[in-house]
Amino acid sequence: MDAMSVTWETRELHTARPFGIARWTHASYPRTFVTFAQGGVEGRGEAAPNAFYGETRGTVEAVLPLLAPALTDPWDWEGLRERLGAVMPFHHPSVKCALEMAAVEWCARSAGVPVWRLLGLSPSPLPESSYTVSLGELGVMRGEAREAVARGHGVLKVKLGTGQDEQIVEALREEAPHVALRVDANAAWTRHRARRLLGVLEAAGVEFVEQPLAAGDLEGHAELRRFARIPVVADESLHHVSDVRALANAFDGVNLKLAKLGGPLQALGALRLARAHGLSVMMGCMIESSLGIAAAAHLAGLCDWADLDGALLLGDDPFTGLKWEAGRLSRPEGVGWGVELK
Ligand SMILES: [Mg+2]
Repeated sequence: MDAMSVTWETRELHTARPFGIARWTHASYPRTFVTFAQGGVEGRGEAAPNAFYGETRGTVEAVLPLLAPALTDPWDWEGLRERLGAVMPFHHPSVKCALEMAAVEWCARSAGVPVWRLLGLSPSPLPESSYTVSLGELGVMRGEAREAVARGHGVLKVKLGTGQDEQIVEALREEAPHVALRVDANAAWTRHRARRLLGVLEAAGVEFVEQPLAAGDLEGHAELRRFARIPVVADESLHHVSDVRALANAFDGVNLKLAKLGGPLQALGALRLARAHGLSVMMGCMIESSLGIAAAAHLAGLCDWADLDGALLLGDDPFTGLKWEAGRLSRPEGVGWGVELK
C-alpha cells in the first residue's frame, strides 16, 4: 500500500454581509478543510463547526490530531465510524463529517465516478433550495428579499425569534407575494408564543416552520403539531441518527445537515430512518464552502426540500464547480464531490 496522509488547514470564510439568527450574528466562519491522500488520489472534507453543537475552531483543531488516525482504509466506511466512535463516542460531528467526506471522496475519485454514483443514489433533480433572509432591521430584510426574488429565487427562508416576528412575516409576504416562504425560529419561541405565531404563519401561507421550540422540548412540539396546519420540522432537536425515531412523534419532518450528523453516510442513514418513520426530509447546511454544500447536494435528490444556500451567502467561497440558477442547484456531475479549489 502507498503511504497515506491526512492533512488539514483552517481558513476564515466570510459572508458577503453579516448573517444573523436568533442566537447570534457573525460575519466570519472558521472552516477546516481535510485532505486524505493515498496513491496519488486525494479525498476532501470540510468541518463546519457550530457552537450550538459544542464545536469551535479550537475544538476542531484540538480533536483532529486524535481522530485523523482513525482514517486508515478509506473503503472501510463502517470501520471508520467505529474507530471514530472508539476515540470520541460523542460530540465533534463536524470533524467526523470532514473525515467521512474525505474517505468517501477518495473512493469515488479512485473509481472515477461522482459520489452519488458511488453511493448508488437516484439521479433525480434536486428540490429548489431556499435562500435565507437573515435577521436584521426590517427595511434591510425587505431589501434582501426583493433582491433575491429579482435574481430568480422562488423559495425564501427567514430566520425568526425576535419581538417583531409577526411584522417580519407580513413584510416579507408583502415584498414577495409569489414565492414559497419558510420560517426558522431556531428554537427561540415559548410554547405560548409559538401557538400565537402559527396563526400568523398560516395566514401568510408559510410552507413550514422549522424548530419553533427548544431542542429538548419534544412534548411541546408534539402538542404544537396537533394544532398546526403546516409541517413542523426539527433541526436543533436532531443531533444524531439515533434521534430520528423519537422525533417522529413530535415533528412532521427533519432537517439533515452533514456537519451536525457526522458526515454524508450518517446523513444517509438518518434519511432512510426518517423515511421509514413517515417523516418529510430537508437537506440543510451550515454557512460552509461549496465543498460542504456539494456533499449535501449529492444526497439532496432524495429529499423533499433543500436549504443549501450556505456557500451562496459567502463572499470568499474557496471552491468552484457548483452550477446554480438562482435557487436551482444542478446535481454535481464531476468525479468525487464535483468541486475544485479556485
Ligand atoms: Mg434551522
